[in-house]
Amino acid sequence: MSTTVKPRIAVHKFSSCDGCQLAFLNLGGELIELTRRVDIRHFLEAGLDDPDADVDIAFVEGSLSTQDEIERIHRVRKHSRYLISIGACATSGGLQALRNLDNQHDQWRDAIYAKPEFIKTLNHARPIADEVRVDFELWGCPINSRQLLAAVNSLLFGVPPIEERDKVCMECKRQQRVCVMVTDNKPCLGPVTRTGCGALCPSFGRDCYGCYGPSDNPNTESLSKRFAGLGLMPDAVARRFLMINSAAPAFHDAGLIARSTDTGDGDNG
Ligand code: SF4
Ligand code: SF4
Ligand code: SF4
Repeated sequence: MSTTVKPRIAVHKFSSCDGCQLAFLNLGGELIELTRRVDIRHFLEAGLDDPDADVDIAFVEGSLSTQDEIERIHRVRKHSRYLISIGACATSGGLQALRNLDNQHDQWRDAIYAKPEFIKTLNHARPIADEVRVDFELWGCPINSRQLLAAVNSLLFGVPPIEERDKVCMECKRQQRVCVMVTDNKPCLGPVTRTGCGALCPSFGRDCYGCYGPSDNPNTESLSKRFAGLGLMPDAVARRFLMINSAAPAFHDAGLIARSTDTGDGDNG
């Protein structure tokens, strides 16, 4: 009887909330179907513990926020044929990277933790690609299960996954959603944010807050002016960009430019 060797997969967690790993578990029946085709070797949230297993595809969730994580990501890279970073924490540093903005790591740590001397974190949170080669990135906070499954299937068929870098506006228009910026004056980041979520927020009448990070050619300068035209003060414009993906260069720069014009006269963010 012949046995087929199945591709091996690992899911690693770094500094994160685990929400992107849930995108795997949320696949439900499709995850069970997937396990017929792959051998999941390490996935702590699913009870599988073998972090140094050699695998074909390693998914990495979370930012690099501790010295231990920097050492660990090199081990993951060494044991993986393809490495895919998943989610805003892993692709841009995520919310944790807010601490990079003002070099206030020590003050914030001391203000938040009762025993700050036990907290061993680095002053900056960084994306995975800052430290090791990353073969593919899935953006979002959290990522979309459909995109995740599509990436796995592409790799199992031996073709590179398709990267979606279009703007959320394109998806929004394709779905014929009503524009919340035009009709409700909501400061939507859809014109500069990469798609992949199915224009989720506008489909519920909400403005996009940029959780998928910058799209290709994001015209943040024009959008900042549009936000100012909607009545947002510079500090509020800065906050739009400096949130989940504050360390992604396009959003980082747009946020700092807006902040630099802030006179401190008002905050409507
Ligand atoms: S990207 Fe968002 S959902 Fe995913 S681990 Fe980070 S904080 Fe959680
Ligand atoms: S609601 Fe947002 S994403 Fe949709 S078209 Fe308007 S600006 Fe673009
Ligand atoms: S619409 Fe924007 S904020 Fe909402 S899920 Fe999509 S990318 Fe994220």
